[in-house]
Amino acid sequence: MRVLLFLFGLAVGSFLDVIATRYNPNKFLLEKKVIGGRSRCAKCGKELGWFELVPVISFALQAGRCRSCKAKLSLEYPLVEILCGLIFVFVPFQVLTPSNIQHLTSYLAAFLWILVFLTLLLITLIDLRLNLIPDEANIFLVILGVLLIILTASHFSLAEGSFLGPYAAITGLRQNIWLNHLIAAISSGLFFGLLIVITRGRGMGGGDLKLGAALGVVFGWPDILAILASAFIIGSLFSLVWILRRKKTLKSAMPFGPFLAIASVLIFFFGGDLARLYLKFLNFIPQ
Ligand SMILES: [Zn+2]
Repeated sequence: MRVLLFLFGLAVGSFLDVIATRYNPNKFLLEKKVIGGRSRCAKCGKELGWFELVPVISFALQAGRCRSCKAKLSLEYPLVEILCGLIFVFVPFQVLTPSNIQHLTSYLAAFLWILVFLTLLLITLIDLRLNLIPDEANIFLVILGVLLIILTASHFSLAEGSFLGPYAAITGLRQNIWLNHLIAAISSGLFFGLLIVITRGRGMGGGDLKLGAALGVVFGWPDILAILASAFIIGSLFSLVWILRRKKTLKSAMPFGPFLAIASVLIFFFGGDLARLYLKFLNFIPQ
């Protein structure tokens, strides 16, 4: 089962890469004219045959080079394909537990969570390339979030419905799932809005604000807090390394979408452990 999921993920990954590399900010994300048609070598423009488009394997067989012009192919392609494979293998099993595996809704939720992380990967690729986040992707995340709320509303309680596990109870707001996720979205959006005003738009952009709010709808409260905290910690560490290597100065804008995506992955898989770590750091719980 896991092998099949992985292979399917590889195929989805190669499609995702097509959307990401051909995305044109002035057109709809899934515009058929843009994403339709055979893939070509970025260097010589030669159309690629089906045997050159097999995920990962083609790349390995061609030793990472175009068959006609021998130009080096970007490592991004196999990397994105493998990441998609991993999303298909690991995300469902984080959602499906022995206690909910007999419910059909759990499988639906697992599928929706796969879509959430595929969208976050797409956002990461586009934000890295163009330094912007497509509205379509954020709107899609909100839709997925609302569907997930509907699916999981019956399991929402003090102890359930958060990736932080029992630590979620500390912040309250666990009577109503809609109110919980709405407040998560608004506070996250306000936070980014404040940052944009303070930095006069030089740090964050509108895309980051919308993504922050969308993640609030998807993850709810207080998971969004843990995601924002993690994203800023990872972002600061990264910019420190970046500046030390003199690749960029503090002034140059850095895409923030990828950090929000990485933080979402961390909270989804290790939310409970990270919450314990943060609370220890803030001295809320004894060593
Ligand atoms: Zn070529």
